[in-house]
Amino acid sequence: MRGAFINGRDLAQTLKTRLFALTHRLEKETGIRPGLAVLRIGTDPASQIYVTRKGAQARELGYHFEEHTYPTTISPEVLKTAIEGLNQNPAIHGIILQLPLPAPLDPLAFLSLIEPAKDVDGLHPLNAGKLFQGLPSGFTPCTPLGCLALLKTVHSDFKGLTAGVVGRSLLVGRPMGMLLLEQGCTLWMAHSQTRNLPELCQTADILVVAIGKPHFIQGNWIKKGATVIDVGMNRLPSGDITGDVDFKAACAQTDAITPVPGGVGPMTIASLLRNTLEAACRYAGHPFTL
Ligand code: NAP
Repeated sequence: MRGAFINGRDLAQTLKTRLFALTHRLEKETGIRPGLAVLRIGTDPASQIYVTRKGAQARELGYHFEEHTYPTTISPEVLKTAIEGLNQNPAIHGIILQLPLPAPLDPLAFLSLIEPAKDVDGLHPLNAGKLFQGLPSGFTPCTPLGCLALLKTVHSDFKGLTAGVVGRSLLVGRPMGMLLLEQGCTLWMAHSQTRNLPELCQTADILVVAIGKPHFIQGNWIKKGATVIDVGMNRLPSGDITGDVDFKAACAQTDAITPVPGGVGPMTIASLLRNTLEAACRYAGHPFTL
């Protein structure tokens, strides 16, 4: 056993303590309470659990929270009207369209209807473009934002480190790559058509894995002394949740690694609450200083 665990629960708790204090200052000084609304379509059990967690933690911090649920048969017109209503609602500063959407609803078409100033998931093309351009005025997707915060507990200087991201989704892999590039890393990004993944992984000082395949990344693929962030959340037939990295074998190689559960997950929700508070502060013209 070599690697230290990067404790996402503790880091999330520290962040939420700061958010709680700023939320109360915001309300005291401006009368504005952060408001978060989630649109959930269908009965996907994992989505139900995630939204319940988001709501409980938002309320703990003193946010106003709304969940709007719809059947899978919702028409595109009704969903569009629901998003537009929340865009206009002054009590709501953050809007989430819980993914995945049931077919045939096209997630990108609906995400781009969310007012960019309320797009606290950072998935509107304007916010994605700002991240691409390195502009801080947008919102960064919550999972990569949480991963960067976890990495910063290990690395004070990223310049020149080789960072590998496995997975290129719009939600995780691509924005994660942009953040690491912005930090000064030399970046590669792999996906299902990548040919030499084990060799690539062995070059990474920082390895972020987000593919959705249990224990796919083998211990001997990992560079000695690397920092590994395992984003994967895979439910095994036993009911247990596990990551994309063979955790036990990886521990022998890494200097620091996130466990699953207890690593990235808690920081994803904390980062969502962070973005929502920032959106409310911008709306109120109040400084967002954590
Ligand atoms: P996704 O949209 O399905 O993307 C998966 C990515 O992995 C794709 O880019 C895919 O490549 C790549 N991939 C699949 N098989 C591969 C292989 N054999 N070798 C290399 N790359 C491969 O998934 P996602 O939304 O990014 O989520 C990934 C995982 O993270 C899931 O387990 C999800 O549950 C988890 N997750 C966790 C959190 C959290 O808060 N902890 C948040 C979000 C997601 P192609 O593009 O070529 O298909």
